[in-house]
Amino acid sequence: MENEHSGIFSQARIRLSLWYCLILIIILFFFSISLFTTENSTLTRVVLLRDFGNQIPRTLTPLERADIRLQIRELRRTLIFNLLTINGLILLVGGGMSYFLAGKTLEPIRLSLKKQKEFLADASHELRTPLAAIQTSCEVALRSKSKSGNDLKKVIRQTYEESVRMGKLVGNLLTISRLDSFTDNVNLIPVSLTAVVTEAVEHLKPMAGDKKIKLNTSIAEKVSVLGDRDRLKELIMILLDNAVKYTPSGGTVTVSLYDHPAPAVTVTDTGMGIAPDDRRRIFERFYRGDKSRSTAGSGLGLPIARSIAKMHRAKISFTSGIGVGSIFSVEFPNI
Ligand code: ADP
Repeated sequence: MENEHSGIFSQARIRLSLWYCLILIIILFFFSISLFTTENSTLTRVVLLRDFGNQIPRTLTPLERADIRLQIRELRRTLIFNLLTINGLILLVGGGMSYFLAGKTLEPIRLSLKKQKEFLADASHELRTPLAAIQTSCEVALRSKSKSGNDLKKVIRQTYEESVRMGKLVGNLLTISRLDSFTDNVNLIPVSLTAVVTEAVEHLKPMAGDKKIKLNTSIAEKVSVLGDRDRLKELIMILLDNAVKYTPSGGTVTVSLYDHPAPAVTVTDTGMGIAPDDRRRIFERFYRGDKSRSTAGSGLGLPIARSIAKMHRAKISFTSGIGVGSIFSVEFPNI
């Protein structure tokens, strides 16, 4: 498949270079024709000036005429030769540059196709895992002879849990593809960040409570940004959800909202921290830290968070220490 794509791209690159060359040939053709016509019309004068200087006789002897005609023919031949050589050189250099430029033009398309392919492969792989779990538990239940109510309940619960997982994954995939097709002219309206952060915290309270994690808040009042309310809530929820997920029982998660110097949200946890090797990769799609694999997740949270931040021209960043915790912050532009 990779070879197939590189074959398509080399063909497209050559075809595009040929188109560039064709344009160059057309320009060179018209340029040379006009240059030749202009130079050709001055050849007689050039020869006369060369032979007689400023004293050109009124009448020429037949021998002089024949000599002048010969010189003009030679000059014309030299002119054509020079034009062809220069055009050939320009075409050679232009051809090389066309090939280089065609490669540059096609590079973003090649990269985006490669990314799409990887994304599709990762998404299919992630969807296969819960599907396989559902299939296995159903097969085992169908094969076993003694099916007690409890056994069946277990199968139903597993199927339900895996389908919830699949539902979340499909939802995330949809969000990612929507965010990918988002354009700069999307309508952002004034949104109360104070309300959005408060709502997100309320939403996460039960989960933090279940894990016996203390949820502290320091939320400034009347902080507004230009944005999309639902997306902003999603962004804060992702950061909060991760903070609670990757902090062991008894830990603390602190959510702060500042207004100065610009609106900013920070989510601080006292969790496991992010390993140095993972730090530069956590915003990649489907990337999950080694230590996080035992926790539910798909590796799509932070990429979605970053896309939402980008859509709001906000900057998302983090600092982290192993065993100390992490601080994620999102800084928004002032309205
Ligand atoms: P997921 O949480 O589904 O694995 P994310 O994209 O949200 O996916 O996060 C990617 C990875 O970044 C996680 O697998 C985890 O290793 C790391 N990570 C994110 N937030 C935190 C955090 N607050 N503390 C520790 N690790 C984190």
